[in-house]
Amino acid sequence: MAGLRLGVDLGGTKIYAVALNSGGAVVGSAKSETPRGASVEETAPVLRCTAERAVAAADTKWSSVRRVGIAMPGVVDPLTFRVKGAHNLGWNDVPARDVFAKAFRKKVSLGNDVDCGTLAEAVAGVAKGAGCVIGFFVGTGLGGGIVLDGKLHSGSHGLAGEFGHTILRKNGRLCTCGRKGCLEAYCSKVALSAKLDKLVNAKGEKTILTEMMGDDFSRLKSSKLRKAYRKGDKLVVKLLDEMAYNLGLGTASVAAVIDPDCVVYGGGVIEALGEELMPSIKKGFAAALFSLDPSSIPLRVSSLGDDAVAIGAALLTE
Ligand SMILES: [Zn+2]
Repeated sequence: MAGLRLGVDLGGTKIYAVALNSGGAVVGSAKSETPRGASVEETAPVLRCTAERAVAAADTKWSSVRRVGIAMPGVVDPLTFRVKGAHNLGWNDVPARDVFAKAFRKKVSLGNDVDCGTLAEAVAGVAKGAGCVIGFFVGTGLGGGIVLDGKLHSGSHGLAGEFGHTILRKNGRLCTCGRKGCLEAYCSKVALSAKLDKLVNAKGEKTILTEMMGDDFSRLKSSKLRKAYRKGDKLVVKLLDEMAYNLGLGTASVAAVIDPDCVVYGGGVIEALGEELMPSIKKGFAAALFSLDPSSIPLRVSSLGDDAVAIGAALLTE
C-alpha cells in the first residue's frame, strides 16, 4: 500500500494513532496510555510503539510509512517546532519534533491538537468543502483552530486559534493560564468543576452528580455530565446551557474577526452533549453577532469525533 500516512494524537491521558490509506480512510488504529509524568524523551518510544501497532493493524510494513504527523496539547512554534505550554504533559519549551523524529527515524510534522482536529473536520468531516473553518473543542480546557482555504493558519508564533484565551469578561474568573476572564474559564470542564464545587460544596446547592461521583468535582467526566443533563438535573442543565451560551458569545467575537464559512464544535463535552447544547450556543451567537444574519454562518457538531485529532495529524504530512 503506497503512501500510508500516520497520525498520532498525544493527549494528556491517552495516545491514539491512526493509519490512513491514500484515499484518506482509516485502515488501522491503536491506543495506549500516556505515561504519567514522563519526559518528552521517555514518551517518544511509547508513541512509536503505538504507531507501529496502528501500522500492523493496517496490515502494512513500517517501511511503507514515509511521514508521521503528531498532534499535541500545546503551542507549537512554527519555526523551531519546540512545544510550549503543554501543561497536561508537564512540558514547557521542549524540542518535541526533533526528539520524535529521532525515535521514529522518519520525517515528523508536529501540530497543536485542536488545530489538527479543525483541519480534519475541514478536509474530511462536517465542514468538508468550506473554505474558511474555525473550530472550538470543549474538553478539560477550550481549544480552537483556524483553517483558511484548506490550510491550517497557526500564525507567526503558533498562537492563532487559541480562542480559549480571548477575554470574555474584564476581571472575570481566574483562568488556568493565570489571567482573568478568559473564555476557557467559562467554557471548559475545568470551569464547570470549579463552579460545581462552589455551588454544591460551599453554597449547598443540590445535583444528582453527587450520587454519581461524590462531592469531588475535579475529575468531572463528560459521560456523567450527559447523564445528569439528560435526567434533567436542574443545576447541571443550568450550568451547561450557560456554558454553551458563553461559547456562542465567544464564537460571535471570533466570527467578527475571521468571518468563517463554517464553525465546528468538538471535544469531549460536545461529543457527549453537542446536539443538546447547540440551541444555547446558537442563542449566544445570535445575541452577539455583528451585522450578519446568524443563519449565514453554519454552526455544526464535529462528525469525526474521537478520530478528528489523529486524522488531522496525519493530514499535516501532506
Ligand atoms: Zn486563559
